[in-house]
Amino acid sequence: MALVTTKEMFAKAYAGKYAIGAFNINNMEIIQAICDAAAEEKSPVILQVSAGARKYAKHEYLLGLANAAIKDSGIDLALHLDHGADFEICKSCIDGGFSSVMIDGSKWSFEENIALTKKVVEYAHAHGCVVEGELGKLAGIEDDVKVSAADSSYTRPEEVEEFVTRTGVDSLAIAIGTSHGAYKFTADQCTRNADGVLVPPPLRFDILEEVEKRLPGFPIVLHGASSVPQEFVKKINSLGGKMPDAVGIPEEQLRKAASMAVCKINIDSDIRVAMTAAIREYFVEKPSAFDPREYLGAGREAVKNMVKHKIVDVLGSNGALEK
Ligand SMILES: [Zn+2]
Repeated sequence: MALVTTKEMFAKAYAGKYAIGAFNINNMEIIQAICDAAAEEKSPVILQVSAGARKYAKHEYLLGLANAAIKDSGIDLALHLDHGADFEICKSCIDGGFSSVMIDGSKWSFEENIALTKKVVEYAHAHGCVVEGELGKLAGIEDDVKVSAADSSYTRPEEVEEFVTRTGVDSLAIAIGTSHGAYKFTADQCTRNADGVLVPPPLRFDILEEVEKRLPGFPIVLHGASSVPQEFVKKINSLGGKMPDAVGIPEEQLRKAASMAVCKINIDSDIRVAMTAAIREYFVEKPSAFDPREYLGAGREAVKNMVKHKIVDVLGSNGALEK
């Protein structure tokens, strides 16, 4: 068992009409929860690390924990840098043992994005690492990446072939209406259902179809694809939390995307809300608790259940390691 690139994972996922979950890791409990869930569901999985996670937990700890997870769970893992902002951070992760990096040049012009992405691809491929690029701009907040709704833009399908051909990138993140964070949409972008919960505008499947037509067989990535399940938001709010109008992408839309060209779906906020709800509940039920293993253990269990649910009901990747 080893750290592997996403190449074979994506080829199988494309052919099998499912997607691989890319879950953000920040500490030992989250890594254990994701890898135990993947091993039990016999699902491939990608562990991804943001610049913020590297700052918080440090590169060597995350790399060490990922390698420990491979030994303990007995499955291959891909270790991916999420939203590399420049060549230097990508190089640092490639040199530091990651198997995959994202270079996010979406804030630059088309030509600048191509030049930057190509530079990272050349370095990565020479070192056995794969690269994800991005075209289009997602709204929302993820660690250091902040884009307002007004500055966001859908991917232009007419640009994807040129981008992929000229950069040599291995997968491509596109913007079709997903958004980063737990507050993906403002009230004026949404309608409200009978329970008063915000209902976001549907994903732009027409863009995804057009991209798929222009890049047959090429793996597409969706960022900002947490669903922010309302039962967890309600639990957090009822236990002293304050997450008004937190809302995500409906899971049935993500399942549909996973059956199309989307081979990687990024999930971070749903891990956070699951862990937060469980830890809040633990402290409310056991106010005298002060052993971190107890409340972090409860958080870890909740994350594991969330990841299993995503693998089975959203990604459709369960059992894929047996095929
Ligand atoms: Zn992202």
